[in-house]
Amino acid sequence: MPFTLFHYPVGYWSSKLDKRLVLPGLLMGSVIPDVEVVPLYLFFRGVITDHFILHSFVGALTLGLVLAVLVTRYIYPTLIGRIFNLDREELQDVCGITPHLVLSCAIGIVFHLLLDFPIHWYNHLLWPWVDPYLLVGPLAIFFATLLSADILVGYSVAGAFVSVIMALVLVQIVYSNKENRWRKLWIGH
Ligand SMILES: [Zn+2]
Repeated sequence: MPFTLFHYPVGYWSSKLDKRLVLPGLLMGSVIPDVEVVPLYLFFRGVITDHFILHSFVGALTLGLVLAVLVTRYIYPTLIGRIFNLDREELQDVCGITPHLVLSCAIGIVFHLLLDFPIHWYNHLLWPWVDPYLLVGPLAIFFATLLSADILVGYSVAGAFVSVIMALVLVQIVYSNKENRWRKLWIGH
């Protein structure tokens, strides 16, 4: 990670790049790789790391992409509509499966992997071709060097550092969208 919710700003910003991109797809793409973290941690702790297939480009852009599209199409409209009291029909409309929705999910996924990469001391980005332990995040190395500590400390500090920045940006995004806040934050435009 950083904490999964803190991937939100990257999905939100990406929606500003091109009006055809679909905010719900970007958001779901930007969180979906972390659905593997809890089951891997609970059931395979000590055997494999809590990042695996969904944090590799090949796994995330196949299995992860299918998951992100399905969640955006079938869960997002009902869940977000209910929690934030938004128009269910408009949500269903925006979340329909189109090439732009699929592309948006893929972009969200890629940004998730790229945001995780600098922090982690192992990265499955190029799994199964490159050993994850050869891809050490530059921010983790930076903090480990700065603090004369081992890479695990560097990883923890890098994670906390990025999480704090993203939390502040998230607050700024929520605060700056005063009018139709929830609609802008969950449907877009
Ligand atoms: Zn992640």
